[in-house]
Amino acid sequence: MNAHSQYPLLAALHGQQAGAAADLLDGVASLCVVAPHPDDETLGCGLLLLAAAERDLPITIVCMTDGSRSHPGSVAWPAERLAAERRLELTRAVRCLAPAATVVWLGYPDTGLPTDGPALAAASARLARHLPQRHDALILTTWPHDPHGDHASTTRLVEAARGPDHPARLFHYPIWGRFLDRDPRPGFDRALLVTGDTEARARKRRALACHRTQMSRLIPDDPEGFVMPKWMQEHFVEHPEIYLAA
Ligand SMILES: [Zn+2]
Repeated sequence: MNAHSQYPLLAALHGQQAGAAADLLDGVASLCVVAPHPDDETLGCGLLLLAAAERDLPITIVCMTDGSRSHPGSVAWPAERLAAERRLELTRAVRCLAPAATVVWLGYPDTGLPTDGPALAAASARLARHLPQRHDALILTTWPHDPHGDHASTTRLVEAARGPDHPARLFHYPIWGRFLDRDPRPGFDRALLVTGDTEARARKRRALACHRTQMSRLIPDDPEGFVMPKWMQEHFVEHPEIYLAA
């Protein structure tokens, strides 16, 4: 029984053979993961980061926003405190998955990524400095169909930063888009599913738990604040990672 048959993307991928990270990493000399918020890197790409680290690949993780809007009603955790904590959480999660990775914190305000005009051009130029410019590099970013403004903006910024002639390969990892209740195809040409062994999934689970402001009730005074439901955390750990080719 497919536990997520109500979600068309997951239903469409159900039954597709999941492979090892080697399917994506063979021939790759460097990896760059661009994440809208601290936690997307682990949710979307934790197993692949782990595998890339085991291969000693140079890894860059670019976090676009400061994640400071997840608990806007909290008095105890105003935006500045939350942003500082989320930066620490990202550092801890990356230490768990890929300790030698370079973490780039661009620090745009949560929900405030530039969407057009000169601000978008400036942000994409800033991002471009961190994207590997090699044909044997792999860039991973969120999916344009993720129904979240920062996720869609991140995709747009990566595409603008790469330009049409960028040599590196690009794959998208869906976060919220996997739970859409409409069929998002043809949003991609092909999908690769990447799984890991029990130990790798346990490491991913530990890395995810590092994002404790998002995965636990650490922040007590904002009942409307975001906490990822347990079933969803479990899904992201146990389901093969999804990489969609544009
Ligand atoms: Zn996000």
